[in-house]
Amino acid sequence: MPAEEKRLYPFKLCRQGTRLHGQVALADLPDMLSVLSSDQGAVTYDLACDVDDEGIARVRLHIAAELSLLCQRCLQPLVWSVDGVTLLSPVRTDVAQQQWSASYEPLQVSETGAVLLVDLLAEELWLAMPQLPRHTTACVVQTDDPAIAGTASEEPGPFAVLRQLRLQP
Ligand SMILES: [Zn+2]
Repeated sequence: MPAEEKRLYPFKLCRQGTRLHGQVALADLPDMLSVLSSDQGAVTYDLACDVDDEGIARVRLHIAAELSLLCQRCLQPLVWSVDGVTLLSPVRTDVAQQQWSASYEPLQVSETGAVLLVDLLAEELWLAMPQLPRHTTACVVQTDDPAIAGTASEEPGPFAVLRQLRLQP
């Protein structure tokens, strides 16, 4: 079954104590390519479903991905590493009042109790992404010099550093 059609039933998975893991291409996630500078890569997920001591369905979701974003300062690519765990509890959108625990983030499921795996992964990635991605180290100076172009990594190469020094008044 293609990843984008994979449907999960979290309440059922929790009752059964199911654990699921795998990988989905970033290109298969809805709306994701609009913010990525490359359609390469994948998100790795691990879903551990069970019921907590109070009888609440609980989903422990671990996601890991390397996202190619654009630095909003120098407009060069930057790699943003996502590696995090979220504790979720399924919530049916058609049920107004239900048992709720502040320990979990809501995991919206349909009237039939289903959620698309790609929707779940995309939402978690959106939450893990910075609103204004920027290089954490100094941005590489823009240049037309082919000897320097292409060093747009997070670590400026020695030539870029030299050029920065030369550009200073
Ligand atoms: Zn930058």
